Amino acid sequence: MEKNIRGRIVKIESKDYYVKEENDEIIRCSLRGKFKKTLQLKKDKLTTLDVASIGDWVNYSLSTKGIGVIESIEDRKNYLSRKAGKARGSLKRGGRLEQVIASNIDNLFIVTSIKSPKFNNRFIDRVIVSAESCGINISIVINKVDLDDGNFSAEWEQLYSNIGYKVFVISAIENIGVKSIKSLLQNKVNIFWGQSGVGKSTLLNTMFSHLDFEVGDISEYSSKGTHTTVTGEMREIGENTYIIDTPGIKEIEPYGIKEEDVCHYYKEFLAYIQDCKFNTCIHKHEPGCAVVAAVEDKQITYERYESYLNLLDTIEDDMIY
Ligand code: GDP
Ligand code: ZN
Repeated sequence: MEKNIRGRIVKIESKDYYVKEENDEIIRCSLRGKFKKTLQLKKDKLTTLDVASIGDWVNYSLSTKGIGVIESIEDRKNYLSRKAGKARGSLKRGGRLEQVIASNIDNLFIVTSIKSPKFNNRFIDRVIVSAESCGINISIVINKVDLDDGNFSAEWEQLYSNIGYKVFVISAIENIGVKSIKSLLQNKVNIFWGQSGVGKSTLLNTMFSHLDFEVGDISEYSSKGTHTTVTGEMREIGENTYIIDTPGIKEIEPYGIKEEDVCHYYKEFLAYIQDCKFNTCIHKHEPGCAVVAAVEDKQITYERYESYLNLLDTIEDDMIY
């Protein structure tokens, strides 16, 4: 038995964790039973659904048979999570669990298309709120510019770059604007997030034609003769350069953010919120709200304010903190 080997989780398949150690060997590991205790209720609230996630640095021990057991998980630099589906019997009052999607991420690319499917700024803003609250570097990709006959992508590009986000207007199919994304990936752990059909796989295939990313959605495949679900995979696309793929997770609803905190993750609101008349203001319809005044004054766009109100409505009253 060899102990204290450091590695990184690069693939999770059912209950198997594949850990890549320093000489690039990939070891199949299980999780030490003690971790299951972490799933206990803490004051009414179940904190996390996944104890270990893709991208985690771990320490494991290795049996003579070459099977590993994860003994500890290092603190995460950051992680992307979402509100998981309701778990049976887990909580009173309908509270929800946090599902960690991936850890230690350098770049998150939110991928959208300007057309087919229709551009969805609410989706972008929901993912922004989730990622901002986790401290992840965000870029926005607007794909299918070849279909953009009204030049709408330029307006959205302006809107988001004014807030301070890096925006790429591209056509994955026609290989327009793709190179500048590719150059940001070097030596980083990257994740591309978008609704189905926006062109993520096409984009990845255009950048890395030798890798053959699936076009279309396939979350289950056969390995060793059995059907298993791959929860996540970190693919090495170059030396020390990774892309995280999370088949089967499509939607992100921000987890654990209180109503009064949502505005903190709408970056351009921050300059105004201290001028609101009431410090309990959630910028809905309170008198003397400086955010509303800024919207009227066109300092904050209506599109962002509307998506903010929409997101506020999805924050559940019965969330337990
Ligand atoms: P994913 O679900 O996000 O991985 O999307 P896919 O890569 O599977 O693409 C969905 C569909 O959009 C496919 O039919 C692609 O050929 C198409 N598509 C992807 N990128 C572009 C693009 O830049 N322009 C156009 N017109 N179609 C695209
Ligand atoms: Zn206000």
